[in-house]
This record gives sequence, structure tokens and C-alpha cells, in this order.
Amino acid sequence: MILKTEGFVLKSKKYGEADSLLTIFTRKLGKVNAIAKGARKPKSTLSSGVQPFCYSEFILYKGKSLYTVSQSEPKEIFYALREDVKKLSYASYLMELVEVVTNEGQTNNRLFTLLGRALYILAKPEVEVNTVIRSFEVNFMNYSGYKPEVSQCVNCGISDAKVYRFSSQEGGILCNQCFGTDLYAMKISPHTLRLIKYLMAKDITEIEKLKISDFLNEELKKILKNYILVHINKYDFKSLEVAEKL
Ligand SMILES: [Zn+2]
Repeated sequence: MILKTEGFVLKSKKYGEADSLLTIFTRKLGKVNAIAKGARKPKSTLSSGVQPFCYSEFILYKGKSLYTVSQSEPKEIFYALREDVKKLSYASYLMELVEVVTNEGQTNNRLFTLLGRALYILAKPEVEVNTVIRSFEVNFMNYSGYKPEVSQCVNCGISDAKVYRFSSQEGGILCNQCFGTDLYAMKISPHTLRLIKYLMAKDITEIEKLKISDFLNEELKKILKNYILVHINKYDFKSLEVAEKL
């Protein structure tokens, strides 16, 4: 079977003498593992389109267990991301997130579009990186099937409580009558709650210049980190640690 599809290179590992083993998030096949034969040879026609973060058009054919890349045409290599270590680390974090939730044979167009737009925006010189990352995290969870309930209490449905907490386990906010449902529920200020709703309602391209205060960013980051850990069971995002230290 031969197939033409666009995709993002999530990961690239050395394989054998001169090959690369790629993990690609494709539009038509979901996530695939594919060998790019000879891609590490200096004159290979594959080399430019198979680097990590590349958005390329691939021609793939399926072997017994793996796909083989027979052609790759880079459409966007996000050069600016490669020149800035902090942005590069954040972009790696986005790739890691996407890798965890995607599966072979399972397409996810909304996530595909979100990833492309996020990388495109991150590569711009004037951008509120924190806002873009928080918007990505919120919408990433939504499109991966873990949409948090932020408009009413997940336990009793009340939508006009004065105080809420956020429960990762229960998948959304708990009103003060229902705090006991999850003793680990986290504090969430009304401003942060409003910000989550706003980020979920807006396309990531609309918020690239939105500045959020350090307080809101820290509170939202903590909540989302916990929510992501609880639902996708991955605990060590080294790229995120690196990005946050820079
Ligand atoms: Zn309640």
C-alpha cells in the first residue's frame, strides 16, 4: 500500500548506519512509525523533510511492521524554532504531548490543525509564549477526549456558585457544597476559570498576543499540569522542565 499524506515529525531516532526511525503524526493515518532509509547520508533527498518538527508531505508504503518513507517534501521546517532554545523546548513538549495521545490508524484532524497552528505561532518573533502553551494544553485535552467541565459543578450541576475548586479526578469544577467529593481538588480563582473558558472558545491564532498575568499563568499551569498527568498518565516531560528553566 502506498499513501501520500501530510504529517509532523514528532520524533526522529538514528537507526542503523544511515537510516532514521521516525514517529510521524499524519493527517490520514494518525501516528505512524516509519523508516527513512539513508536519511542521514549527506546527499539524501529525504534529509530535510524528516527532521523533528518538520511539517512535510510524505509518500509512505507499508511493510510488514513499519512504514517506509519513499519521499518527503518539507512544507514548513519552522526554522525560527530551531534557533531559540526556549521555543525549541516548548515545541518539543507539544510533540511529546501529541505522541502520548495519538494512535496508529486513528486520525485526529482538530489536534492536527491545533499542532500546526501552535508551531506556526511559536515560531513568530512577537508572541506570548505562556499564553500559547496554556491555550494548547487546554485545547489539546479537549481534542484528545478529556474536555474539562468548567461551566458547572461536575457533581451537582450548579453553575452560579461563588467558589469552585478544580478536580482532575472528577474532570472539572466542584462547587463549595461538593468539595468533599475530591479532597485533592485544587484552588481555582474566578479569573482563572474565566481564562480557561476563554481559551477553549478561541482559536489559538486569536490569542497569540494576549498577555496573562504571572498569577493567572502559574495557577492555570499548575491545574493543567495536574489534569494532564491524571488523564494521560505521563509524568516526565523533560522538555517542559528545560523550557521553564530557561
Ligand atoms: Zn456541586
